[in-house]
Formats: sequence, C-alpha cells, structure tokens
Amino acid sequence: MSNSDWFTVEKIDTHTYAISEYGHWEHVHAYLLIGRKQAALIDTGIGIGDISFVVEQLTQLPVIVLTTHVHWDHIGGHGLFKKIYVHKKEKSWLENGIPGLSIKQIRKDVFKDLTKPIPSSVRPESYYPFKGKPTGVFQDMDVFELGTRKLNVIDTPGHSPGHVCFYDESTGYLFSGDLIYTGTPIYAFYPSTDPLELVKSFKKVAHLEKEVSKVFGGHNEMGLDASILHEAGLDAEWLIQHDLVKFGTGTHHFQRLSVQF
Ligand SMILES: [Zn+2]
Ligand SMILES: [Zn+2]
Repeated sequence: MSNSDWFTVEKIDTHTYAISEYGHWEHVHAYLLIGRKQAALIDTGIGIGDISFVVEQLTQLPVIVLTTHVHWDHIGGHGLFKKIYVHKKEKSWLENGIPGLSIKQIRKDVFKDLTKPIPSSVRPESYYPFKGKPTGVFQDMDVFELGTRKLNVIDTPGHSPGHVCFYDESTGYLFSGDLIYTGTPIYAFYPSTDPLELVKSFKKVAHLEKEVSKVFGGHNEMGLDASILHEAGLDAEWLIQHDLVKFGTGTHHFQRLSVQF
C-alpha cells in the first residue's frame, strides 16, 4: 500500500481539493486551497501516510499549513511541512501535546477499525502525534493572503479552546473543522471541550449563512449546503432553552447535525 492509495483526492473546483482518509473510521478531510502566490493546506490528516507527497502532485507553489484545531486527526502530517500556523490558544498543545491524553489511547483510536491497508512504512507502535513549534500563531479575524484568494480566521471555540473555521472569500466556502459536520456527533464531551462555547460558536456561524456558499467539515460528508449554518443556530437555541448545554446530557440529534455532551 502506497501513500497515494491511502489518500483519496477529490477536486472541489479548479483550485480546491479535498484530501481524505476513507480507510479510517473518522473519514477525515484535509483541504488544499491553491492561490496565485501560495497554497494553504487546512489540516494535515491523521499522519498515517505522507500527505506532503499527495500535495506535491497537486501544486508546485509554497504551502502553508493552517490548523482548525490541535487534535491528532487534524495535525498528523504537520511535521512534513515547513510553515505551520495555529491559533494562539492551542500553541502549547502543538508544542507539548494535550495534557492527560495518553499515547496508548491515541494509538488505539488511530489504528482501530481500519478499512484499508495502511502504507507499508507505517508502524502503529511508533506512531506519535505531531509535536513542534509553529511558524506563527493567529487569532480571530486574521487574514491569510494566498494571492487572489483570502482566507479569514473565525474563532469558533468549544470543541477545543482554539478551534477556528476558515472562510474563503473568493468561493464562499467555509472550512468548519470539527464545529460543523454531519454523519456522526460533534464531540463536546472531552475535559477540554466547553459545551457553552460550542453553542455560542453555532450561533456565530449561523450569521454567516448568506455569505457562505458551501460548508466543508473535517469529517464525513463534504460540501454541505449553507443552510446547515442556520440549522446550527436553531439547534443551539433549542439546547439552551432545554438546559442541555452541559456535560453528561448525552447525544442530541437534530435534522442534520448531532452533538454529544
Ligand atoms: Zn477535533
Ligand atoms: Zn476531528
């Protein structure tokens, strides 16, 4: 099994690609956005295969890595790139790991229920999530200029403290990381998640519905209709009204979204 077999590349438009890991139970997506001066890779997957090899087939431009949040399934390939950026609130996680999360637990989640053979160079017993210093940090409303393509940082904490979405003005795409995706529940039950912040972030992105053309999450179905943002706002209201925005209230299923506290 080679790297190019492990990753699935799908063309979203002439300058935007999804690089997905469908052999893993989480169905993780990274996104490559090609500008005129440089390209941005939003997240780098699980780190099972060499995602930089796949990126090199798609663009010759310099690549910057932008991180939606520092969970192992979004930073796996960070070490393969020279320029990586992260929210200032998760800089220490990138450098030191998430406190209290054991390598044994991580390896269990990384290598369970695989439906494709992993590349022959990968050894589960030597898997470590990326740790290292970022090139730089960002915060809410920062802008990354790719040349005729601008990416706006939108703080959307809750799932993790420094979780962000990236909004691409040129296409109207919203890259929503683990704030918005369908198919499986959005996780808000970790000690480091904040249920109240998560529903606030739902309400925040609900206001973007008119500007957004499509939503690309970190997992499962891609290219969701922007109406999912309106739904997120309604779901947030419902959860608040029913006093369910706290740990231990279980999984709440809505029309397309579900949330697990
Ligand atoms: Zn996550
Ligand atoms: Zn994730």
